[in-house]
Amino acid sequence: MKCPFCSHPDTQVVETREAEDGGFIRRRRRCGGCDKRFTTYERPEVSFPSIVKKDGRRIDYERAKLSGSFQLALRKRPVSTEQVDAAIERIEDKLRTQGEREVLSSRLGEMVMNELKKLDKVGYIRFASVYRSFEDVDDFKNVMDEVRTPG
Ligand SMILES: [Zn+2]
Repeated sequence: MKCPFCSHPDTQVVETREAEDGGFIRRRRRCGGCDKRFTTYERPEVSFPSIVKKDGRRIDYERAKLSGSFQLALRKRPVSTEQVDAAIERIEDKLRTQGEREVLSSRLGEMVMNELKKLDKVGYIRFASVYRSFEDVDDFKNVMDEVRTPG
């Protein structure tokens, strides 16, 4: 790592310490050029992959959108918020643990379908029937918004 003071390329770690909550590693470094000291923090990256849409656009993963799709598919169905949250957690775990930088929106849609299949048949059919023809969670939401009737 370069020195932030003089840009010298050679800096040495003089001390490494794990933070008390274990969330990150703190390192004290000393510059071989100017002898100044500085601290760096190292933490694991737990960000979500980008979602690649059918048209190739990349968007950020948003839990709210995923949650919205579940809510629409399961509207007036006997499925608790806790069940939906658990399903979303399972999807997020998969997204994080596969370690990919991006995931196709169609793949995300399949994950949603798999979870809905376990939760509620009607919700699954609602989602699958619309989703399969659009292959995009956002499109599903748009269509469901359009066909939504008051009450
Ligand atoms: Zn320096």
